[in-house]
Amino acid sequence: MIEYENLAKLNAPFNLEFEQQFSNVLQSGWFILGSKVREFERQFADYLKSKYCIGVASGLDAITLSLHACRFERGSEVIVPSNTYIATILSILHNDLKPVLAEPDINSYNINPAEIERCITSKTKAILAVHLYGKCCEMDPILDICKKYNLVLIEDCAQSHGAKYKGIQSGQFGRFAAFSFYPTKNLGALGDGGAIICKSYDDELAIKRLRNYGSDKKYYNEVIGFNSRLDEVQAAFLTVKLKYLEKINQHKRKLAGLYQQYLKEDFIKPEMHPDFYDVFHIYTVRHPQRDQLKQFLLKREIQTEIHYPLSPHRQKAMQGIIQGEYPLSDEIHQTTLSLPVSFSHSEDDILKVIETMNRF
Ligand SMILES: *Cc1c(COP(=O)(O)O)cnc(C)c1O
Repeated sequence: MIEYENLAKLNAPFNLEFEQQFSNVLQSGWFILGSKVREFERQFADYLKSKYCIGVASGLDAITLSLHACRFERGSEVIVPSNTYIATILSILHNDLKPVLAEPDINSYNINPAEIERCITSKTKAILAVHLYGKCCEMDPILDICKKYNLVLIEDCAQSHGAKYKGIQSGQFGRFAAFSFYPTKNLGALGDGGAIICKSYDDELAIKRLRNYGSDKKYYNEVIGFNSRLDEVQAAFLTVKLKYLEKINQHKRKLAGLYQQYLKEDFIKPEMHPDFYDVFHIYTVRHPQRDQLKQFLLKREIQTEIHYPLSPHRQKAMQGIIQGEYPLSDEIHQTTLSLPVSFSHSEDDILKVIETMNRF
């Protein structure tokens, strides 16, 4: 069986280092907001050539706290891609803001800048750009729109650790960039975790307060905060994982390259362009008989996934909240299939998937 993902196998090369780190934290007796979190925050900020990084409890919290720190008036509108993962939309709703869905580009699966501009009203305050599947959004026109309409840019980088647009890394564009370290992400912890990257001291201070009960000084509360902290053990594991992020990304790119080269043209493959350095959090193809294809592969011992089966606007939780038709999002959700592309897969695994797929 070729599994879609195997997290034990993926992490096995790092187990000795993890055990050492775990033992250090255990012996230190310090489990929340200590030296390991500071060390990881410093390293991840350096990795992104950024000034500030604040560890938080999850990717969802990273987006939610970033929006919170902007202090937009209740009911303000935030533009978000119609085919994003639900977390992006939840972060807007948790701030009493209004998600406005812009359709993606059918070739890149990322938000279409022309659609963003059509969605702008006098209430629009921000664009939440999601770098989906490990490919950066087309940033030049998005940055132009932010400037022209005076909008805040927040990046959802949960799927794009290390992805680049014109040589600039995802996470370097926005006022805030939100990362998730959910175990399956390119930079995955051994549990939940997230981080926010920002450029100004004031924003850093605001986020640091928000993640820790609104406090900078123990038992003194400046604002109404949350409990959303990256813990020491996960931060320690992440310092190990970060050293191998480039290696993990390169491996995934190599596997994706095999699909690009050898999969027959019946499958709609991801678009690749020299301006974009993609890190393939997910390698997706589209096919009109997606469900039959998935079954065909499963019968031949190949597991695949669907990211995602149902558009956000069709989710039960969004009834009465999101109106309108999003045909491109639906089209993607109906035809997309995610193929094995993990650090735990070998080139031989992928060649076997290709050979099987080409018989479909
Ligand atoms: C995974 C993911 C999130 C949420 O991250 P968690 O750490 O699971 O909260 C947000 N946005 C996108 C695009 C994601 O893929």
